Amino acid sequence: MVLRIPKTLLDQLRRHGEETYPHECCGVLVGAFDDAGGKTVETLVKCGNTRTDSPENRYHISPAELVRIQREALLAGHDIVGFYHSHPDHPAQWSATDLAEAHWTGCSYVITSVEHGHAELTHAFLLQGQEEVKRFVDEVLEVIA
Ligand SMILES: [Zn+2]
Repeated sequence: MVLRIPKTLLDQLRRHGEETYPHECCGVLVGAFDDAGGKTVETLVKCGNTRTDSPENRYHISPAELVRIQREALLAGHDIVGFYHSHPDHPAQWSATDLAEAHWTGCSYVITSVEHGHAELTHAFLLQGQEEVKRFVDEVLEVIA
């Protein structure tokens, strides 16, 4: 599967992680699914990280915010195609917590490692399967103009 993202949005997403360092940033990727199962990001919605217990290595988007984002996306003829967050001083790989807290099958989960305040790698993972047997698989992140 492939997640296509315009260069400007990828830059914004990575910069968001630098802005919130040493805390995690998070947000929603709004766009469109294509018939082949790929996705294209059209807009980025930055969210406030509502986790106050451990903002360095946890992220959480409030349900109310998510509902609002989804409603606005649908009104604009779009869908939620994924989520992104940052890993301050940790690799751009999903954690057991990330998998446990991921519930949107078919959506992409994009993770950026932010080392010493500087965005390094950005990787995308596709959530597959239903809740009991869900898993992340590596996804191609294709940067488009
Ligand atoms: Zn994470």
